[in-house]
Amino acid sequence: MKFKDQTAVVTGGARGIGAAIAEAFAAEGADIAIVNYGMEEECAEVCRALTEKYSVKAAAYQCDVSDFEAVKTVCGEIKKDFGTVNILVNNAGITKDNLTPMMSEKDYDAVVDVDMKGVFNMIRHCYGFFIRNKSGAIINISSVSGIMGNPGQINYSAAKAGVIAITKTVARELAPRGVTVNAIAPGFIQTDMTKDIGSGGEELKKTIPVGHMGSPKDVAEAAVFLAGARYITGEVLRVDGGIAM
Ligand code: NDP
Repeated sequence: MKFKDQTAVVTGGARGIGAAIAEAFAAEGADIAIVNYGMEEECAEVCRALTEKYSVKAAAYQCDVSDFEAVKTVCGEIKKDFGTVNILVNNAGITKDNLTPMMSEKDYDAVVDVDMKGVFNMIRHCYGFFIRNKSGAIINISSVSGIMGNPGQINYSAAKAGVIAITKTVARELAPRGVTVNAIAPGFIQTDMTKDIGSGGEELKKTIPVGHMGSPKDVAEAAVFLAGARYITGEVLRVDGGIAM
């Protein structure tokens, strides 16, 4: 058990990649705090299942990660319930795609607020835990869109590129304190976010060198690896079947 007696916070942990990450850390003995926007009942169910299967403590907190004050409050609640945070996985994210001439200001701001500012908010309010512990790992879920750009995703690509810059900045700040900070850049992973690819799926698969989409578990394995790798920091690990090489 790699992470016994440690607390892992996973944003957007009720479904998709976040749920797989929460489960992977629980399987390694970590107690789990899920920070999710909605889906209160589903979150409670995910927590019950983790406790039953892995005998870890698990609790869910309803919060919009783009809301600075709400994140501050939730991080205070997590401190009360768990004592500290050893691993922070910033996974919550949304898309609102459109080609640039059609992209509304509202949709641009919404994606940047959740996908990039949400990462800042969580790190900002968990920073003290890592400083005090002089150890730990922060993992931010970026995207290959943040590396390569992607037509129709000016908001998402900008936010995910920003997440890489946040990762490298905080990695430099926290390296002397024994804390690693890394990003994962997934390619096409089968979740609710990509379910609308539908009939375009076959064409898309031809662009992926390994020939198929990834699973949330593929990303979760990378997160567990990075959290345990003490000499890797400021890195962006692609989990993309080779799409962005
Ligand atoms: P899903 O849409 O399946 O899940 C997203 C999760 O984020 C949900 O649990 C959702 O909560 C939560 N969330 C959304 N907005 C907020 C918010 N404002 N505050 C708190 N929680 C929020 O997405 P995926 O699992 O596919 O994606 C997870 C991450 O991986 C995202 O950052 C995404 O950008 C990234 N990614 C995904 C790829 C893919 O192919 N799937 C590729 C590259 C990157 P709720 O359930 O309440 O809506």
